[in-house]
Amino acid sequence: MDYNSTTPLLPKVQEVYIKELNFYTNASSLYEGGRLGAKKIEKARKQVASLVGAHQPKEIVFTASGTESTNTIFNTMIFEGKKRNRNLIVTTKIEHPAVIQSVKRLKSFGFECEYLPVTSEGFVNIESYETAMNKKPLLVSIMTANNEIGTIMNIKNLCQKAHAAGALFHTDAVQAVGKIPFNAKEMGIDYASFSAHKIYGPKGVGALYIKEKSPIQPLLCGGEQEFNLRAGTYNVVGIVAFGVAAEEALLNVKANSDTIKKLRNRLANGLLKAIPNSTINGPLSTSLNQLNKKNNASPALRELPNTLNVSFPGAEGESILLHLDLLGISVSTGSACASASLDASHVLVAIGLDPALAHSSIRFSIGMFTTEKEIDFVVRKVPVIIDQLRKMSPFYT
Ligand code: PLP
Repeated sequence: MDYNSTTPLLPKVQEVYIKELNFYTNASSLYEGGRLGAKKIEKARKQVASLVGAHQPKEIVFTASGTESTNTIFNTMIFEGKKRNRNLIVTTKIEHPAVIQSVKRLKSFGFECEYLPVTSEGFVNIESYETAMNKKPLLVSIMTANNEIGTIMNIKNLCQKAHAAGALFHTDAVQAVGKIPFNAKEMGIDYASFSAHKIYGPKGVGALYIKEKSPIQPLLCGGEQEFNLRAGTYNVVGIVAFGVAAEEALLNVKANSDTIKKLRNRLANGLLKAIPNSTINGPLSTSLNQLNKKNNASPALRELPNTLNVSFPGAEGESILLHLDLLGISVSTGSACASASLDASHVLVAIGLDPALAHSSIRFSIGMFTTEKEIDFVVRKVPVIIDQLRKMSPFYT
């Protein structure tokens, strides 16, 4: 129940990964083995470029993670800010720490930063966005889909407004790609970050989309790998496996998301029905209501098909997590990267939950290998745990 944290390898990806472990040649070497390695990388570049709708494969640069991809863009701004004489970075209050911490670091370089508020469903507040654009930012960074509540932003529209203000536009698409169609060309974005391990590929490999002619500076300097944009000996096995995962994701995104959405809705309806006073956080709350009323008017793609965030007042999130863990059910409170922190989820607070309710919230995120049987198991077990915890709580009546 924690696919947003990471995903298992697809069998096809695992097969390729194991096979490629035998390939050890440095892909930058000029002899035959090196040239073969380079060929493998170019194939993977094409596969990833197709998945994300790049104009051409050379707009893809392989990195070691989504986090590194995002850091590369923010590092570029240190150079670009001087050239353009701009120093404002605009983002939202619900970004992943990879963005939030990168913005924070730029502050220490003298940049101004604006974290825009979001609506109760997690969409960017358009009025404050337009006001921020009037201040002529250098960079706008807004995630395509939120990892905790699944909100899908209207990136094309936001990007158009940013460009009209002369700003560059980056999106953290780590949670979106593979779950919903993603087309960089159509959205017009300058940069996007991706990660293999969220799309049934291996850990330790990511990608950065850089639209041709958009400014870019390497984060890692050294060798000439990746068009001089990312130094370091190639992780051929990871990159090849990422390519296969990307190809599979492109083939299956629609079918997978339809099946996964049905299972997620079964989970949501099951939990809401069995647990009094439980509420869904994020746009799914409205979408599910409309769906249950057989009113299919809900505009398409407001939320990820696989994510469900629920508040269970009177039961503390970490306790729920640990009780579920004992049953072999893995869930998350806040994002996995922040789960060691006892602060309430910044995303839930940003959409207006009071910190106590935010602390009583659990994220379920499912994927390709989730079964109906598993969903029904969770729907049976969670209510028992919530009931126990509520009975012990001095605050819950
Ligand atoms: N951005 C989002 C929205 C994420 O959910 C994650 C991972 O949880 C990341 C970035 C970080 O990606 P990576 O683990 O590849 O560094």
